[in-house]
Amino acid sequence: MPSLSEVTAALDALWPPERAEQWDAVGTVCGDPDAPVARVLFAVDPVQEIVDEAVSLGADLLVTHHPLYLRGTTTVAASHFKGRAVHTLIRNDIALHVAHTNADTADPGVSDALAGALDLRVVGPLVPDPTDPAGRRGLGRICELDHPVPLRELAAHAAKRLPATAQGIRAAGDPDASVRRIAVSGGSGDSLFDAVRAAGVDAFLTADLRHHPVSEATQQTPLGLLDAAHWATEWPWCELAAAQLDEISDRHGWDLRVHVSTTVTDPWTAHAASAHSEPGAADHAGPSGDLHPSAIHDSSGAPN
Ligand SMILES: [Zn+2]
Repeated sequence: MPSLSEVTAALDALWPPERAEQWDAVGTVCGDPDAPVARVLFAVDPVQEIVDEAVSLGADLLVTHHPLYLRGTTTVAASHFKGRAVHTLIRNDIALHVAHTNADTADPGVSDALAGALDLRVVGPLVPDPTDPAGRRGLGRICELDHPVPLRELAAHAAKRLPATAQGIRAAGDPDASVRRIAVSGGSGDSLFDAVRAAGVDAFLTADLRHHPVSEATQQTPLGLLDAAHWATEWPWCELAAAQLDEISDRHGWDLRVHVSTTVTDPWTAHAASAHSEPGAADHAGPSGDLHPSAIHDSSGAPN
């Protein structure tokens, strides 16, 4: 049975911590380097539900994409929700290890897993890492489809292939525009619009898109945008990472039991679709339902 330090050395070889962004906080958060590891759980978020899941599973190591303490801390008191997670982990002999921006830019990395979940053919990184002579590492991926597909169909495809969330997939731009080349970036990608434009793609799939960047991006060029739940765009990486660790375990004869959490930890928990948001209804988009302006005037009877 390998020790924690042997397993984290293998993880660091996949996602070297020195390749993480300066502001990031990756690596081992808690755990005894000499402790034996038999069972590993991969998840996106180091939240209490996931920590509890690691306990029920009897995991010795929890590997998450998001850091527990991105900005550092001066306390791990259990009176704080993050400290409670640390207490639960240590009390149950579970180590926590984080691979964040070092996994984003890796080859294969988070966006390769996202492209793979959608069966998209990756042709290269969206923002290449200049230190990679092979030109394969970097942020986001540019992908090609075998046949052009309307943006709305691509949105439906993404909704079907990515794990279900309350948010689903939102699209911006002409729903009937044809997409042949698409950029994808797991997690928050609205800082990548310049690279997306420079790549000359027809569409961009990412998460956490906001009104003004989207409005400006779609006004500047005929670009389709697909906005998925942040968690859903990064979850496919857990499956990829688990498969990578499984392969390492086989090679070393470690006999690790490697699991992927399917618990949805996206913070958005409900979504109410507008009356005109059904597929195809966009052609007749306009005020409808209870908030129709004329309905409001009709019912009020007098100005207020
Ligand atoms: Zn993320």
